Amino acid sequence: MKLPYAEPFRIKMVEEIHQSTRENREEWLKNAHYNLFNLKSSQVFIDLLTDSGTGAMSDQQWGALMTGDESYAGSRSFDALHETVKKLTGYQYLLPTHQGRAAENVLFSVLVKDGDIIPGNSHFDTTKGHIEIRKAHAVDCTIDAAFDVDDLFPFKGNINLDKLEEVYKSHPKEKIPFCLITITCNSSGGQPVSLENIKAVKELSDRYGIPIYFDSARFAENAYFIKMREKGQENRTIKEIAKEVFSYGVGMTMSSKKDGLVNIGGFIALNDEKIFRAASNFTIIYEGFITYGGMAGRDMAALAVGLNEATEFAYLESRISQVEYLGNRLIEFGIPVQKPIGGHAVFIDSLKFLPNIPRDQYPAQTLANEIYKEAGIRTVEIGTLLADRDPESRENRYPKLELVRLAIPRRTYTNNHMDYIAVAIKNVFDRKEEIQKGYNITWESEILRHFTVQLEEA
Ligand SMILES: *Cc1c(COP(=O)(O)O)cnc(C)c1O
Repeated sequence: MKLPYAEPFRIKMVEEIHQSTRENREEWLKNAHYNLFNLKSSQVFIDLLTDSGTGAMSDQQWGALMTGDESYAGSRSFDALHETVKKLTGYQYLLPTHQGRAAENVLFSVLVKDGDIIPGNSHFDTTKGHIEIRKAHAVDCTIDAAFDVDDLFPFKGNINLDKLEEVYKSHPKEKIPFCLITITCNSSGGQPVSLENIKAVKELSDRYGIPIYFDSARFAENAYFIKMREKGQENRTIKEIAKEVFSYGVGMTMSSKKDGLVNIGGFIALNDEKIFRAASNFTIIYEGFITYGGMAGRDMAALAVGLNEATEFAYLESRISQVEYLGNRLIEFGIPVQKPIGGHAVFIDSLKFLPNIPRDQYPAQTLANEIYKEAGIRTVEIGTLLADRDPESRENRYPKLELVRLAIPRRTYTNNHMDYIAVAIKNVFDRKEEIQKGYNITWESEILRHFTVQLEEA
């Protein structure tokens, strides 16, 4: 008999989580203004709000934590991180920051001006926020297959070269500081970008003199998909593939809370000394001195180890096969999910799941709230609330998809938890006809409203 798959780790420390009753949850949700961000973690049994900073560190990382050097300048933990980043990415300069969005803030302070155009594959929400707050525009050039949840194309994070060239042709070069490739493409469902596509984007961008930066929060997961799905890549290591990917860009921003396998942190890595100098000034103003940038020395030490672990095949195989396991259980129950299953999360198509809820009553938020009420599972809306209003017209921006994201924290839950989640969602699916109404907004902020929005039952 063929041996079944088993995780390449055992568990050294556990954290208790607690069940609640449906009555409890209905009350908590009401008090949270029907926004799952407002719940307390003690009110949640399984937390799939995000895979950002919520994973488990290894014994090696916890060990490294104790060796952290907290010197304000010239910390040896910075040196360890710098060496690791250079080796993995090939980029010579490193600026740590406290998170990925801080890396965006620092880098975009140098590169992005009023009226600029930043093309790329579906920009992440904070990335878009940092572009729009500078009165610049993010232009989504993702391939159309990304917006068809049943299209089995293996690289749905790819950039459509015609759309990109159209942007390059219709604006002067000075208005396009860079093209941003997000790996994997979070906003289109954790879908990977192929090596072939990255190379083609590089070639096209070279012709127009536009540099490429990577938003690389899940660069290791992207490299895993390239190895597993792209012809000719199957015998290469994750580290080799990742390094080749980075060779087509001039720099990157990183949220270390994802493929850094740590709970907090980010960084910028790049090759251009002039941009590094300019970004150093903004790092000092916004984050801290350039050898810590808002991170504790011990966190940089743990990150250096985490980046190496995240780029090992055995780790990535266990990570991504768990996400796939959950996705396949949902598919068996007939639940409409985005296919193929993405790297860090399973996405449910709520327009198909809850066709009775009108778009202006936020079907994805409605489904996320139903899943919470059913079983204490916290998920997140990736739909109209997240898409915000158009900055000029202030109208809702309806995205092509209304998704509920089940983000799986790294090395945190077992497949029994995945089974529990799948059955909970099946139970909601079985009574979907009873769900007839969504929600209305009672209060929202100007930008990034989904974090704090308040709702009432429609
Ligand atoms: C998480 C994320 C960010 C922002 O990083 P934070 O660490 O949350 O500030 C930026 N881009 C992508 C693709 C992300 O997934």
